[in-house]
Amino acid sequence: MNEYVAPLRDMRFILSSLAGIDEIGRLPGYEETTPDLVDAILEEAGKFSSGVLSPLNPVGDAEGCRVENGVVRTATGWSEVYAQFRDAGWVGLAMPAQYGGQGLPKAVAAPVNEMWFAANLAFSLLPPMAVGSVDTLMRAASDDLKACYIPRMVSGEWTATMDLTEPNAGSDLGAIQTRAESHADGSYRLFGQKIFITYGDHDLAENIVHLVLARMSGAPAGVRGISMFLVPKYLVNADGTLGARNDMHCISVEHKLGIHGSPTCTMSYGDAGGAVGYLVGEPGRGLEYMFVMVNESRFNVGLQGIALGDRAYQKALTYARERTQGRDAITGEANVPIIRHPDVKRMLLVMRASVMATRMLAYVAAGWFDKARHHPDEVTVAQCRSLVDLLMPVVKGWSTELGIEVANMGIQIHGGMGFIEETGVAQYLRDVRITAIYEGTTGIQANDLISRKILRDGGAALGLLIAEIRSSSHQALEDGRTTSLGRELERSLALLEDARDWILSHESDTIGELLAGGTSFLRMLGTICGAWQMTRAALVAQNTIDEGQGDVVYLQGIIELARFYFAQLLPQVAMHMEMLNRAGPAVLQFPDTAL
Ligand SMILES: Cc1cc2nc3c(=O)[nH]c(=O)nc-3n(C[C@H](O)[C@H](O)[C@H](O)COP(=O)(O)OP(=O)(O)OC[C@H]3O[C@@H](n4cnc5c(N)ncnc54)[C@H](O)[C@@H]3O)c2cc1C
Repeated sequence: MNEYVAPLRDMRFILSSLAGIDEIGRLPGYEETTPDLVDAILEEAGKFSSGVLSPLNPVGDAEGCRVENGVVRTATGWSEVYAQFRDAGWVGLAMPAQYGGQGLPKAVAAPVNEMWFAANLAFSLLPPMAVGSVDTLMRAASDDLKACYIPRMVSGEWTATMDLTEPNAGSDLGAIQTRAESHADGSYRLFGQKIFITYGDHDLAENIVHLVLARMSGAPAGVRGISMFLVPKYLVNADGTLGARNDMHCISVEHKLGIHGSPTCTMSYGDAGGAVGYLVGEPGRGLEYMFVMVNESRFNVGLQGIALGDRAYQKALTYARERTQGRDAITGEANVPIIRHPDVKRMLLVMRASVMATRMLAYVAAGWFDKARHHPDEVTVAQCRSLVDLLMPVVKGWSTELGIEVANMGIQIHGGMGFIEETGVAQYLRDVRITAIYEGTTGIQANDLISRKILRDGGAALGLLIAEIRSSSHQALEDGRTTSLGRELERSLALLEDARDWILSHESDTIGELLAGGTSFLRMLGTICGAWQMTRAALVAQNTIDEGQGDVVYLQGIIELARFYFAQLLPQVAMHMEMLNRAGPAVLQFPDTAL
């Protein structure tokens, strides 16, 4: 099997059993999200991803992008498929209805985006940029800017970029140097260079809307001096038609390890007098606004890890059923499919359990996001918002790290064939590798989790999460058939409480000790959240079987997968706890000169 097949059954199970899609569909503003509509959307997205996006995936990988007479050219077929994607209305799926979008919940957009990413990551990086940009503009832009740009971004006629990174400003955005000078007509002129800009230029749409971070003359140093500007590739005339080409250009596209079909551009602004830009919101609040987009993107990047993990799993499973080699260790039968070897089966289960656990957490987080937006009860809104904020670095950091491990295992299952490009599995690993880097590396996610999400509120959001997990562990303990899951989840929670107390007991002068163990803590929290969702899934599956409903084989598989997760993945919690405790002295006392 070469083409991607959308895992619709798993997606539907998680949406209805864990993410609360039926409840979300009853919230004011989401009333049109009926179960039938959700089913139809998933079905259609599944067909588009397998039939249209997936066959183009190796083409983009092989051809990449090139700059031709100053124009960035995408791979063969890219342009036609973008037109199909746009005309089918997929870009505006979860964008505001008032601007022509369908206004559907994030819990619906999440599986749909996962399908796009799994089928063809390099192509699918483009459309979600418009979603984050529109959110940002909705939050901060003037009515004129909104009216001029948002409708054509929602329709997909114009695409979007986020322009943060510069040669000396990567993880540390406070170092941004791009300048913005005010102009007599109220607009600005931008000068500077941005690097690594995804789809910074391309031949898929007639205009590109760049949201650029820059400093106005006289702005203070650091993040408080950064403002946001909307800089279109083509200026827009008063009647909405496209005018002159703006003074900004792609000066090169990067040669990368993966996502070859996605142009990663070095952009130069103001080589001929200044790129025209329009201030978004208030001066000095650029980074705050950009974080609306960054948070949307971090969630999507988490989905990318899940998506590529699932793609690798699908391919590995097919291969393991077809490839024959060696004897069955138990029956002695010769020349058996490699899935009969316990180690291969173990790897397949690690892959499936990792993908399912990260997917469960991501969709549940998408559901919290929707409730935070539209739930009538203020307490629920506040709680959902706290949980989303707390777990965003986990959805991003944990899902992408596991995605890379899963894609790596996919190669292992293929043996030597995994190392051969024609098999296709090497591309998944090459493509997924970036997900732990862009939108903030895993190290930056861990810093965010500890410093901003736990220390800043004194552990309040984490306390809320622990209470939620505990309620599931109690349910599991009460149901005789899931007692062991409940007991093990309780043990992990006790470790999490120890970790929380240890983190909160630190003073600012010992922050280095915490940050040295930060990624261990992030992995620990992710692994526990996975166990939490697996427990909930097992409880739902058991109850559904008891009620005589559903597909018993599938539901039993969910229960057994939870047991596998607890046996083979949850033990990492104790390991990460130990590493967290001991990272400080082990790392900080090691002399730099001895490295
Ligand atoms: C393919 C691709 C697409 C991209 N798309 C975009 C885009 O569309 N728009 C955009 O603006 N940018 C984009 N980027 C840039 C990307 O977001 C940055 O590369 C990323 O944030 C890391 O920054 P850096 O490369 O400067 O690494 P650095 O910041 O130099 O980091 C190097 C290493 O140091 C670590 N590190 C740095 N600071 C800390 C710290 N405080 N604590 C702990 N560890 C730290 C990092 O974790 C990393 O391991 C893209 C990059 C790539 C490769």
